[in-house]
Amino acid sequence: MESTFAIQLNGIVQGVGFRPFVYRSAKTFGITGFVRNDKDGVFIEASGKNVEAFYHHILENAPQQAKIISHSFQKTETKNYPDFRIIESEAKQNNKQLFITPDFAMCENCRKELHDENNRRYHYPFITCTDCGARYSILKKLPFDRENTSMQMFHQCDECLQEYNDASDIRFYSQTNSCKKCGITLSFYNNKNELLSQDVEEILQQINVALQSGKIIAAKGIGGFLLLCDANNEQAVKTLRARKHRPTKPFAVMYPNLQQIENDYEVSEVEKEMLQSAAAPIVLLQPKSPLLGGFRGAAPKLNRVGVFLPYAPLLELILSKFNKPVIATSANISGDSIVYDNEKALQDLPQLADFILLNNRDITMPQDDSVIQFSSKTKTKIILRNGRGFAPIHFLNCQTHKTIFASGALLKSSFALAQNDSIYVSQYLGSTDEYDTQQTYKKVAENFLNLTSAKIETIVCDKHPDYFSTQFAKQKSEEQNISLQQIQHHKAHFAAVLAENNLLENNEKMLGVVWDGTGLGDDEQIWGGDFFSYQNKKIERVCHFEYVPNLLGDKMAKEPRLSALSFCKGMADDILKEKFTGQEWNYFQKILNNKYEIVTSSCGRLFDAVAALLNLCDKQSYEGEAALYLENLATENWKKFSNFMEDYDVHFDEEKISVQTILKQIISDIKCGENKGKIALKFHLSLVEMIETVARKNEFKKIAFSGGVFQNSLLVDLIKIKLEKKYQLFFHQKLSPNDENISFGQVIFPLIAQIDTE
Ligand SMILES: [Zn+2]
Ligand SMILES: [Zn+2]
Repeated sequence: MESTFAIQLNGIVQGVGFRPFVYRSAKTFGITGFVRNDKDGVFIEASGKNVEAFYHHILENAPQQAKIISHSFQKTETKNYPDFRIIESEAKQNNKQLFITPDFAMCENCRKELHDENNRRYHYPFITCTDCGARYSILKKLPFDRENTSMQMFHQCDECLQEYNDASDIRFYSQTNSCKKCGITLSFYNNKNELLSQDVEEILQQINVALQSGKIIAAKGIGGFLLLCDANNEQAVKTLRARKHRPTKPFAVMYPNLQQIENDYEVSEVEKEMLQSAAAPIVLLQPKSPLLGGFRGAAPKLNRVGVFLPYAPLLELILSKFNKPVIATSANISGDSIVYDNEKALQDLPQLADFILLNNRDITMPQDDSVIQFSSKTKTKIILRNGRGFAPIHFLNCQTHKTIFASGALLKSSFALAQNDSIYVSQYLGSTDEYDTQQTYKKVAENFLNLTSAKIETIVCDKHPDYFSTQFAKQKSEEQNISLQQIQHHKAHFAAVLAENNLLENNEKMLGVVWDGTGLGDDEQIWGGDFFSYQNKKIERVCHFEYVPNLLGDKMAKEPRLSALSFCKGMADDILKEKFTGQEWNYFQKILNNKYEIVTSSCGRLFDAVAALLNLCDKQSYEGEAALYLENLATENWKKFSNFMEDYDVHFDEEKISVQTILKQIISDIKCGENKGKIALKFHLSLVEMIETVARKNEFKKIAFSGGVFQNSLLVDLIKIKLEKKYQLFFHQKLSPNDENISFGQVIFPLIAQIDTE
């Protein structure tokens, strides 16, 4: 009798067609035994002459979306199996490890079948296989088996079942398997909530006509509803902006195919790869020629447009019929989170869309589309939003020893969970200063904790008492009697970038450049232009931008002209006065002359101030708008003069950096009529020089960067070009530099028991 071996595989091995693959391999190698999913991953018992070859074959040829993190191969009690089988998952009480898989974009094979008139899934908008389809967005519980997902209510027809049970079929054991006969159905409504059709061909035809005539469609995608309209139709885009109350914030554009994208944009190899990846995110690209018509309305005043490909079969069908690019943006009322359930869609979306396309499969984990960019020179990857396709972000082998929940920040919220040596960071959950977003945050967090069966031992949150995430954490801690830890915002940023680069155990001292818009500091002031050191598990604040008055709290973040007023300290009254009414001017002067209580070192506000001085933006309609215009202007200039390396002098005073010296020179340049693009570029270069000066003076050799300011791809390029030869530089990789990474930084703190802050 042949020996029997137990094979355990851990990693991303569920919901990716692993068991069918093992089954087929077993047949090839003449192996008997079984394979099953368990809470540890995939478990195999194998008997036969070629068990070892079979084992290596599995490790080397695993399915596309699978990622084996660890594996073991052990001789076990010899058994005589009659054949090889896939057996149902075993529900184990004490789960050691579990992994959640993101949603996968439609694979090439399914795309072919979708357009093949002779295929039984021709034009079936929910075609999937073991390589592609919804995963995280429909998950209710682990492991990823049909009855633990929203597919539970769809019972496979005979033909589907046959595929599901046929080991030679690509849909063998595909948990999302369905077809026209047994699967998900569409319902097409007008904005009076009248049902127009449930027939796929009829619906596709009506959508096509609607798009042609400039109408707006709300269609339920993978992570939620998307609003679609003809990107070439200027009026349609204007209407969409008016209805969404979104005057300037950029919209993404979905193209029918890569060819059309390549016709319109500069696309590098890495960008092409990203567009076509299983995550299929929105990628910011530079148009080849100036934008026309509706396109100008997609990304007003910006030199890059967010572009992506149809990642779901339904979107593929709509786009291939229309055969022109469409605006595709999350369906939400301004400030709210993405609409994802049918009831709310019929209630809220008629005010945004002319037609609403529902389907009867529930979304359990709402997600916006992910957004990513590559800096133009060094091609550094910068994540701007983690959502569908990437979420949840998963870090393995973290030696967590403890189950910890971290609740994140306020804007660009997310949460993180450390459990069983893994850390998950949730999708972007929007700005939790809105009631609707708070409800979504709560629901997603509870769903997540439920599906991971997490028994939280420690909760971590921000220091800011007013953040929704802080209140959520406090409430949970009180209700369940769990210890609570509060971590300073920028230290969490620093910890996040250190941990993402495996630097927490590093003994050499590290410089952390943490620049963002706002966060409550240890001294109760608003930080945001800060330098930290990390050594021997200790984080200390090294130096920061000199404080300026934080005018009118949140209002300052919305009105760059106020930042200019505050930062310039009377140096530019003649330039700034015209930005205010006489009454406003007197009012703000009075405030500035009185003793103000709150001050800030925010780098985000410094960008705002410079943008306002250059007349780029006085009031912004979305976070980061002014800074984007400034980056844009500087980038245009840099393209023309890439050898230009002049900067403004910066004055250092022990731990305070006088950014006023920079502003003084900028104001003088403006008054001399200097080219604005050149000023904008010089400003960026001055920040790089400032970083180098801090590193040099304090003898740092390694520098890590975090905070929303590092979404600025020009700044990242300049830092790399100017500093990479002399310093080791570390940026975020899977996480965004913005506040989405705060929850990860928070979750790290209790894990490094000795970590100490001052
Ligand atoms: Zn597929
Ligand atoms: Zn079927």
